[in-house]
Amino acid sequence: MTEKREYGPYVWVTWLASIMSGEQSCLWRSWFMTQNQDYAQAKTDGQFTASWNVKHTSLLHKSVHWLQAKGLEVKVEHGFKYKKHGLTLAGKADIVATDGKKKAVYDTKAGKPKHSHHVQVMIYMHVLNCDAGYLIYEDDHVEVAQPDDAFLESFNRNLEMLAAEAEPFKSPSRGECRYCKLTKADCPEKVE
Ligand code: SF4
Repeated sequence: MTEKREYGPYVWVTWLASIMSGEQSCLWRSWFMTQNQDYAQAKTDGQFTASWNVKHTSLLHKSVHWLQAKGLEVKVEHGFKYKKHGLTLAGKADIVATDGKKKAVYDTKAGKPKHSHHVQVMIYMHVLNCDAGYLIYEDDHVEVAQPDDAFLESFNRNLEMLAAEAEPFKSPSRGECRYCKLTKADCPEKVE
């Protein structure tokens, strides 16, 4: 049953990246999940499959071997918790690699490229103090832009919004709600 999070607001990097990139219009969805725990979860059209997991794991392992072969020191699935505005931002970067002088983060993606992937890596770069960030797709490697003032303004504003008691707006629509795991028990406006 839905209740307020016992240890305060808690958000995953992927939820933040979705709203910062504009791929998710409904701010209420991320705010609600940040503030609450034990809510009912629906099956959605966007859930990862076993096949996606196999592809992602394979790409991750190949990337680790490639970076190690270049002589870099590699940390795999580097988890972290970052505190700001009374909220915990949690994430797990696929790979953090260093040559002893500079540090870079690498995120492997088995699916199609999305803007939120770039924002996700920018968040890792900012929070983990990395000098560079890269996305590794099955057929492409992309260098991610450095976090700039516009990124930092959005990062801080959205963390403040997620940590606040005040409810942000909802955007119920078939396009949004079909990928949302919240149910009508918590969001009666859900479009099914
Ligand atoms: S069901 Fe739709 S309106 Fe409700 S939180 Fe999810 S995306 Fe927003």
